[in-house]
Amino acid sequence: MKLSHRITNITGGGSDGWDVFYRARRMIADGIPVTELTIGEHDIRTHPDILRAMDQAAVGGHTGYATIPGTPQLRESVAARIEARTGVPTTSENILITPGGQAALFAAYIAVCDPGDTALFIDPFYVTYPGTIRGAGAVPKAIATSPETAFQPTKAALDAAAAGAKSLLVNTPNNPTGVVYSAETLQTIADVCIAHDLWLISDEVYDTQVWEGRHISPRSLPGMAERTLVVGSMSKSHAMTGSRIGWVCGPKEVISEMINLSTHTNYGVAGFVQDAAHFALGQGDAVEETVAAPFRRRRDLTMQALAGQNVVRAVPAQGAMYVMLDIRATGMDGEGFANALLDAEQIAVMPGESFGQAAAGHVRVAMTIADDKYLDALSRLLAFASALAAE
Ligand code: PMP
Repeated sequence: MKLSHRITNITGGGSDGWDVFYRARRMIADGIPVTELTIGEHDIRTHPDILRAMDQAAVGGHTGYATIPGTPQLRESVAARIEARTGVPTTSENILITPGGQAALFAAYIAVCDPGDTALFIDPFYVTYPGTIRGAGAVPKAIATSPETAFQPTKAALDAAAAGAKSLLVNTPNNPTGVVYSAETLQTIADVCIAHDLWLISDEVYDTQVWEGRHISPRSLPGMAERTLVVGSMSKSHAMTGSRIGWVCGPKEVISEMINLSTHTNYGVAGFVQDAAHFALGQGDAVEETVAAPFRRRRDLTMQALAGQNVVRAVPAQGAMYVMLDIRATGMDGEGFANALLDAEQIAVMPGESFGQAAAGHVRVAMTIADDKYLDALSRLLAFASALAAE
């Protein structure tokens, strides 16, 4: 039996660039102690108070079908959070609750792209982007950035790609680079979207992890609220990755159509998870800062460690739980370096090439282990790089 082109085409064929990751996992299964700095998962778990709220909600009976767009309470608390952070008037009608940011991304594409439409995204990119676009039937088209412009897109590159496209996806603070887009970059993005009549999908799942500069939601720029769908999530802000809880924020006419998609796909999100999310948002910004604090600290440790040498350079690490290291001075590409580092030091990092062409010659380090172990791994990585550069 022949499967649909849509499902067989999601990965686009070929290597997914995660060979180092899978090899590290196999080594661990074989009993080899590997230090993993690969994926974006906190080294803390969801706060017990949030879990207690979840438990209370479940034991209290919120285990039946929950209201499909999201519970009124959670939609309101998400809307209030967004309005407080961006100044853009936002009500629950602007919010659709989804099972995580990933489902929100997919829903956004179903909402704005028809099959065959061109969907632009920025390289380097979060790994699921092209597959999400293909899964929705649209055609992914990458816009290259470069380390010299701190991986922020330029007006020339955006303009050159925009003609005939339907949507643009941006992600700030950025995974994998840790870059926080400047006000100028975001204004350029807004100008290009308006000039070429593009929908903007703004992935803001790292909005609580900003170490330098300020997170600006492009939805807050003039003329953008009516053409922007913001993707948000509790995964990173509240260490709730496994709870699968996120949202889309957009114009209410768009959200009202998207509710039909939820009805015909996930049929809502678990009520007790939504109650826990509502409770968590009610705890205020201090909780989010506590969850973000270890990454801020490790980012500072990274900068101090890098200051003592001149082989490895970081793209200014301004946000998110990653640092992107430029290892081109070793003479290796990211994949070669990551494989060699895994063999020599049993440290697993992601090759920049896993995230597109633009981050070739780089490796992404996830700052997701305890400080002392993290610093030890980082200094071994730096020593390894400088030995290679000296060869
Ligand atoms: N966007 C980016 C940039 C991410 O890094 C992730 C998760 N790693 C997601 C979206 C999806 O997050 P979730 O589905 O857990 O909310």
